[in-house]
Amino acid sequence: MYSWHTQDYLNLAANIQKRNFGALLLHGAANSGRSELTNELIQFALCQSPQDLHACGQCSSCILWREDNHPDIVLLAADNSEERKTLQIKVEQVREVIDFASKSRHLSACKIIHLPDAEQLNISSANALLKVLEEPAPDCIFILQANNINKLLATIKSRCFKYQLTYPAWDDALKLVVENNPDNAEFWLRYFNGEPLFTPPFENHELTQLKATLLKPGIDAIFALSKDLDPKRVGMASLLDFMLKWLSDLFLVKHGNNANYFVSDTSAMQGLAAKINNDKLFALQEDLVFLSRWSEHPLNHKLQFENILFKYQQIYV
Ligand SMILES: [Zn+2]
Repeated sequence: MYSWHTQDYLNLAANIQKRNFGALLLHGAANSGRSELTNELIQFALCQSPQDLHACGQCSSCILWREDNHPDIVLLAADNSEERKTLQIKVEQVREVIDFASKSRHLSACKIIHLPDAEQLNISSANALLKVLEEPAPDCIFILQANNINKLLATIKSRCFKYQLTYPAWDDALKLVVENNPDNAEFWLRYFNGEPLFTPPFENHELTQLKATLLKPGIDAIFALSKDLDPKRVGMASLLDFMLKWLSDLFLVKHGNNANYFVSDTSAMQGLAAKINNDKLFALQEDLVFLSRWSEHPLNHKLQFENILFKYQQIYV
């Protein structure tokens, strides 16, 4: 668990100890250690002899938890081995969980049902889950995590104790990034909105090539880029995200502001920004947002990426 979550942990552990809720919804800080904090809370809730709001680490419950073999916890998550556009929790999975909730405990004082990504609930599985959330068994605690609680059904949210986790201060986050990714640490931290637990989507030379091509979008450079940065290898979603951030910065620079992500490129962007046709820029943004929704779909990504780059070239008049 990370230092910026210490107070969140103590607040939540105290509430778990008092059984103040049957369902907890943790949100925010997805790339700032939310899963580490959640795991620590679960171990505490299951521990047979907790001390000062912390799991003992030695009881049979703590040992089974570490071995990923605890009988009083069940994971409710989509099967990611299936090839689907979006991963979804199925109704049958919820039924199995309801069955688990009705059975007796093994060694801990409570049973945990953990949804690491509550946004995987579709309407049917969310409705199936509602019944058990409405009248939870007294020895059951639901722990849900979500990046964006606005995507959850209001009926699910209203039955949970909602808790927004703390984000790290910039300096704390940067310290952690420097330990893991010393190259371009500040750039990537800004790129990932100050959340430190990311994997850079591109190598350094790829980042340099991407920026150089976007600053001088000639035909040869575009073909070279789409050949070197094969979307199949680097991921279409990463490329689309990069383009969207680049365009939003161009727009900022055009209106006399500093770039938000590409700070060191602000002055290089100024010459380009003056030539932008706003309507074409907005149209390209819309295309990118649309494609983002389908980025897992097996279309011809290389062709799409080239198409995007040529449209990008044409936003300059
Ligand atoms: Zn223990």
